[in-house]
Order: sequence, then structure tokens, then C-alpha cells
Amino acid sequence: MTHHVILGAGPAGVIAAETIRKHAPHDPITLVGDENEAPYSRMAIPYLLIGKVGEEGTHLRHTADHYSRLNIQLLRGVRAKRLDTAKRTVELSDGNTLGFDTLLIATGSSPATPPIPGIDGPGVHSCWTLADARAIANLAKPGAKVLQMGAGFIGCIIMEALQKRGVELSVVEMGDRMVPRMMGPTAGGMIKDWCGNHGVKVFTGTRVEAIERGNGAEPGLLGKIAQVVGIGSASAPNGKMQVRLSSGERVEADLVISATGVRPNIGFLETSGVRCLVGVLTDEHLQTNVPGIYAAGDCAEAYDKVSGKTIVSAIQPNAAEQARMAALNMIGQSTSLPGVTQINVLDTLGLISTSFGNWQGVPGGEHVELTDKTAGRHLSLQFHGDVMVGCNSVGWTDHVGVMRGLVEGQVRLGEWKDRLMHDPTKLMDAYLSSAQGQGHWSGAADERRR
Ligand SMILES: Cc1cc2nc3c(=O)[nH]c(=O)nc-3n(C[C@H](O)[C@H](O)[C@H](O)COP(=O)(O)OP(=O)(O)OC[C@H]3O[C@@H](n4cnc5c(N)ncnc54)[C@H](O)[C@@H]3O)c2cc1C
Repeated sequence: MTHHVILGAGPAGVIAAETIRKHAPHDPITLVGDENEAPYSRMAIPYLLIGKVGEEGTHLRHTADHYSRLNIQLLRGVRAKRLDTAKRTVELSDGNTLGFDTLLIATGSSPATPPIPGIDGPGVHSCWTLADARAIANLAKPGAKVLQMGAGFIGCIIMEALQKRGVELSVVEMGDRMVPRMMGPTAGGMIKDWCGNHGVKVFTGTRVEAIERGNGAEPGLLGKIAQVVGIGSASAPNGKMQVRLSSGERVEADLVISATGVRPNIGFLETSGVRCLVGVLTDEHLQTNVPGIYAAGDCAEAYDKVSGKTIVSAIQPNAAEQARMAALNMIGQSTSLPGVTQINVLDTLGLISTSFGNWQGVPGGEHVELTDKTAGRHLSLQFHGDVMVGCNSVGWTDHVGVMRGLVEGQVRLGEWKDRLMHDPTKLMDAYLSSAQGQGHWSGAADERRR
């Protein structure tokens, strides 16, 4: 029997454990998660904040005995501290050492905290964990002034939840537009206008320089002692905060949400010999440079066949697919991931935008753009030869699947490429004419999609 150890009890870890159990009924499986919660989905946090689901609704599985019934040993509140690849052991935060035959690193990522004076004080939270959600729910009451730092993917997703809680929302983004790592200037500008029209004050090209409390000072010695001994609240500031911006403006806030990006949780691998770039580098089997050690999800870096580079594509469908593939390889079924692609479909206060593949274009490529600001629609298509290698869209909800199919499938468009250059709205026709017969599309060889 093979002992499979999985580090991280998020979606990737749970799906991997279940997949192994399905195919290897008797192999011991240990799932190690550092959060003291039932395994849950971060994706559900906005729904929790809106009140569409309770905490139970964020849980990945809904029966209390789910893991024990599957004979998966779930360790909660236990952190992997160090990996010894030679001894094939993991040192845990509870003092135990866990031996393994195969290992999956599925530790996800954590918010990056920018070095801003006052950011570590009360009233400032990320929106990443259930604990964060509880703290935000406590402070984001109707009429509360909320300042959100960052208008990236996660920042845009949580805006709707915050607005639905009836808060007065300001968003500060240091990039020159909203979602700057996913959207071009036109799309980013349209999203900003949309937010402005929906009552959100958006500052772009602006940094938060300091978060000040009370009369502009950090909590005094007595205040700090009160927090340490638990008399003062760790989550609620005493009075409002003043957020100082690089523009010289000051914004009052009851709550500051930090959504300025994330970093893979790979620090514990530092001396392990497992090769990491931005994330844990994996091959097409999700295996690392160390045989028998795999990675999946937000902490993993995998090959993107569209850009020809390895990327961390931190969205849940990727985490789920990578976990399933890694798990099959861990039990000896050699399976390859067709690749990951940048696939982002974003709902910002009801405005749907997309970003696929090389949305910024490639050297020597061609580009066509169509914008109708009155109708709230924008399309930007990028080509390399007769292949659409990336795109951005705003307000084209009916064509999302087609855009993804063309980019991810690297479909040869032939004469349709020139037709799209003249009229980008003909995406559906181009797809139907070009994609249908192309057996080389990575998905076409995959039985599960038939
Ligand atoms: C508010 C919000 C909304 C989102 N909305 C969407 C969406 O709409 N669509 C979408 O596709 N994606 C969305 N995402 C992203 C999505 O949640 C992630 O892609 C997904 O959670 C990745 O799963 P994972 O298992 O790789 O990582 P995680 O969910 O981060 O799970 C990793 C787990 O490992 C634990 N861990 C870390 N280090 C250690 C260690 N050393 N030892 C043990 N355990 C450890 C972590 O604490 C965590 O519990 C959203 C994220 C957030 C925060």
C-alpha cells in the first residue's frame, strides 16, 4: 500500500484525496490543512458576505463524516513546516513528522501585504479566509465607510458583496486602470466607469501611503497593551481610520480591505530541493523535479501552451483539474494535463468582462478592437498568424465560451482570421466554421469532454 500525503485542505487537496480514494480504495491518505476549519471554498466567501449562504454553505463537503467515511485522515490546524525529500518526511507544526510515499503540495496562496504604515493595525483585513470574512462582516455594516486597496481579480469579485452590504465603498488601485493584469486600457476604463456609475468611488494610478487611526497616530502604548491582553478589539479600530493617498487626498474608513495580490505558499519548501519559480514548478503530470512529489492548484506553476511559458493560473477550475490529474499520477495512472491557460471571467457589480490567453498580444501579431461605450461593449482580439492567441471583452456574455474555445484550443482560423479583423463580432461564425473539424484541439482528445 502507498501512503499518500496531501498538504493543503482547500479544493485542490480535497479533490486529490477523493480521486485517490476512488481509484485506490485501500491506500492510506493523510490530508493536512493549517486552517482550523472544515475544508471550504474561498470562492463562496462573497456569497457568505452577501448572506446568500451561511458558513456551512462555504464548506466543500456537507456531511460531517465525509472524510472519515472515505478513510481520509484529515489533520486540521496543522501546518507543514519543512519537507525532507531524501527521507521523504514532512515536519508538522504539532511536532509530528509524517512519512510519505507520494506527496501532493496543494498549499494554495496567501495575500501579499504591502509595506504600508498602519496596515497591521485593527480594522484592516484581507478577504481570503473564513476568519477574514467574519471580521469583514463585523465591520461592513450598512453605511460603513470601506476602502478597498486593489482592483484586481479578487478585488473586483468582492466589490459586489461589499456593495450589497450597503457600505460606502472606495477602491484604490495603483495601476493606471482597474484589473491592470487582466484587462487593457479600454476594458479597464470601462469597468472603472461602470463602478463609478454604480456608486463606487474609484481611484486609479493612486497608492495608499498610510493608514492612520484616531488623531493620526498609531494606537498608543495603552491601546496596544489593551489589544495584546484582549481588552481592545483586534478587528475594530477605535474610531475611524484616515487613509492617506499618494494624490494627497485622505479617505475616511471604518474598514480597510487589502486585496493587493497573492503569493504561493511555498516558503516551507525553501531547503527541500523542490524547484520553485513563482510557484512550485510542475511537468505535464503535475510532478515536481522530485519523483513522487506533485503540486496542484494556486501554489503550482504549470505549462501554458498558449504563451509557451509556465504560469500560476490561480482559479478554482484549474486547481480542481490539476488536483485530479496529480492524484491519478500519484496512484500510477500516467495522465497528462493538456496545459493551463489564463482564463478569467469577471463579474464586477454585474458587468461581465473576460481575459483569455495573451490578451496583450504577441510580438509580430495582429490586433483588432471594437468599442461601443454607450452599449457597454468592447472586444479586443489578438492574433498570431491565423490563431487567436488572446482576447479581452466587456459586455459580451453570449460569446464567452467561443472566446475561450478559440484561445485555449489554438484553433487555426484560416480565412476567418481576416474576416474577424474586419468584423470581430463574427466570433461565433468563425468558431463554428473553424473549430468543429479540428481534432488537434487539446480538449477533443479528452474523453471527459465528449
Ligand atoms: C474572495 C475570493 C473569491 C474567489 N472567487 C473565485 C471565482 O469566482 N472563480 C475562481 O475560479 N476562483 C476564485 N477564487 C480563487 C479560488 O478560491 C482559488 O483558485 C482556489 O481556492 C485554489 O484552491 P487551492 O486548493 O489551490 O488553494 P486554497 O483554496 O488556498 O487552499 C490551500 C489550503 O492550504 C493551506 N495551507 C497553506 N500552507 C500550508 C501548509 N504549510 N501546511 C498545511 N496547509 C497549508 C491553506 O491555508 C489553505 O487552507 C476566489 C478567491 C477568493 C479569496
